[in-house]
Amino acid sequence: ILTVEKTKQWMKEIHKRMETNKEQLTALDQAIGDGDHGINMARGFGEVVAKIDGTEYDSVADVLKSAAMTLTAKVGGASGPLYGTAFLKMATALQGQEVNQQNLKAATDQALEGIKMRGNAEFGEKTLYDVWYQVAEFLGSEKVEDWQEMLEVCQATIEDTRELKATKGRASYLNERSRGHVDPGSMSSFYIFEALATVIE
Ligand code: ADP
Ligand code: MG
Ligand code: MG
Repeated sequence: ILTVEKTKQWMKEIHKRMETNKEQLTALDQAIGDGDHGINMARGFGEVVAKIDGTEYDSVADVLKSAAMTLTAKVGGASGPLYGTAFLKMATALQGQEVNQQNLKAATDQALEGIKMRGNAEFGEKTLYDVWYQVAEFLGSEKVEDWQEMLEVCQATIEDTRELKATKGRASYLNERSRGHVDPGSMSSFYIFEALATVIE
């Protein structure tokens, strides 16, 4: 369901979305953070695309590892290391394997564990972990081939972050005042999976 070419395409589709929605992500982060999330994502995935475009890879895992290292190295703040960890865990889980439904699910579970470990986050804390959690749940369910439905579930989860109080990251400094705004990282995670849905088969 994913090849080296498709994984490269995935990263390009992510980058496209981060550029298109840069202002939106930045505005969301201005409300409850420091207003750099759109810039971080657009620049970070721009670096990823620049890196993988000029490189030959033997496996999907190698592309993901390269993306992970670029994100960790080039994106400051909370989101760079968190996404870096997520993609690195996926790469490790897929090492030496062709990607199928089953190991993609396992890889997403590992990514989720990685985010949890690095960010010390749990579901319902108004972070990008919320969206990754839903995706992992969905991939483990029977409805697995319906990516459109998965995206709808993610969208509902993003909307759910609005009324939550942030207890992790910069938004947690606002305490009760973090309520009433959607979490920027949940939104960027949505773009990551929306992009995946366009390349996966
Ligand atoms: P920074 O907050 O350092 O400026 P970004 O603005 O790029 O970094 O990313 C902010 C996003 O990172 C938040 O919207 C949230 O989803 C996510 N985030 C922050 N802290 C954590 C954490 N401890 N665990 C999981 N996700 C987190
Ligand atoms: Mg920020
Ligand atoms: Mg910042």
